[in-house]
Amino acid sequence: MAVLKYASEAILNLFRPPVTTSYPAAPIEYPDGARGHIEITIDECIGCGMCVRCCPCGTLSVDRNAGTWSINRFDCIACGYCVEKCPKKCLHMIEGYQTPDAAKGEVTYTKSPEVLEAERKKREEAAAKAAAAKAAAVAKAAEKAAEN
Ligand code: SF4
Ligand code: SF4
Repeated sequence: MAVLKYASEAILNLFRPPVTTSYPAAPIEYPDGARGHIEITIDECIGCGMCVRCCPCGTLSVDRNAGTWSINRFDCIACGYCVEKCPKKCLHMIEGYQTPDAAKGEVTYTKSPEVLEAERKKREEAAAKAAAAKAAAVAKAAEKAAEN
């Protein structure tokens, strides 16, 4: 009976389309809901670290001052939590799987020099403003003390 079953299956398969594809010669079609891999629009990242804190694999790191965001793709399970939690919506789940490699290297994305420069200026301006406000408060307190 088993032989008959396999024989009929083999004959039917002669008339069915192949279940395999010619990838990479032909483009691959990803099924609905396929998770792929994470990409970042780095210039929009504010370095809040929310993605780092929510990642169950500890595969992300962020350096706000250096303007970098790093991922070890070999440790990522493509759960999508980081995409969900990012307040700037600058993380995206992109079709396409991790390409094989000989080393488990980390990939680091760095903000463009223009954005880094603009952020540096903004930080300096905020620091100058805070210092001026502090100096004004100290002067006001000294003035008040002199009046009494
Ligand atoms: S998809 Fe999941 S495992 Fe991958 S970096 Fe984001 S939170 Fe971490
Ligand atoms: S959650 Fe988004 S904005 Fe915050 S550090 Fe991660 S990628 Fe950047």
